[in-house]
Amino acid sequence: MSETPHHPQPLRVGMMGGTFDPVHHGHLRSALEVREALGLDTLHMVPAPQPPLRDTPQVSPAQRLALLQAGIGDAPGLVADDRELHRDGPSYSVDTLAELRQQYGDAVPLVMVIGYDAFLRLAHWDRPEQVFSLAHLVVIARPGYQSPWPSALTELVGDREVSSVSELMARTRGGVLRLELPSLMAISATYIRQRLKEGKSVRYLVPEAVEQAIFHERLYQSDE
Ligand code: ATP
Repeated sequence: MSETPHHPQPLRVGMMGGTFDPVHHGHLRSALEVREALGLDTLHMVPAPQPPLRDTPQVSPAQRLALLQAGIGDAPGLVADDRELHRDGPSYSVDTLAELRQQYGDAVPLVMVIGYDAFLRLAHWDRPEQVFSLAHLVVIARPGYQSPWPSALTELVGDREVSSVSELMARTRGGVLRLELPSLMAISATYIRQRLKEGKSVRYLVPEAVEQAIFHERLYQSDE
């Protein structure tokens, strides 16, 4: 990664992990809007080679990274970050946050961005309480997911919730903010994989460059 340029205000850095199997407009528009809403300089989008809480994807980490790169294109401030591809074992977000903390230093607000569906499972992550000693957590609404918080999650979050971006950014870590972004999109990678398997169109669900790469590499179109 390039060196941090001189900046009049402290940098604000974000991390959005995921399987990106494949990346779609729900991820990308959310990434753009969350970057705007939080005033992030950089949002690292980090594909997980081995997501701990789900089956290993059929499409390789390198191919999912390539699709993510194609999807991001030249969007300012969004970075396809390959750091988890260089680590062995399961991809734990706390390890990625620790690396980003090390890279950017202690004075910088660092934010982990997750959708509400992923947030509901947070208490089952590896070392979830460490997330808050490294970063803030911003939870974005996702259509179709409204369940109340499980009790383990309520306990984990405790009194960390804040109600505005400025309150969150007054500190460098440890806060939780729920955000409803302007463009809610009911798109999931599961739906895209299903349509491709059935030979149906995924146009406008994914960027054109991603659609082209999927067909060029013949991904997701069979059971193998
Ligand atoms: P799958 O259907 O395979 O479970 P997915 O579409 O949920 O995949 P992931 O790669 O698992 O995609 O998601 C990465 C992150 O992006 C998660 O925090 C997830 O909540 C969030 N996310 C995914 N799709 C959307 C969407 N349409 N709107 C908002 N957030 C989303």
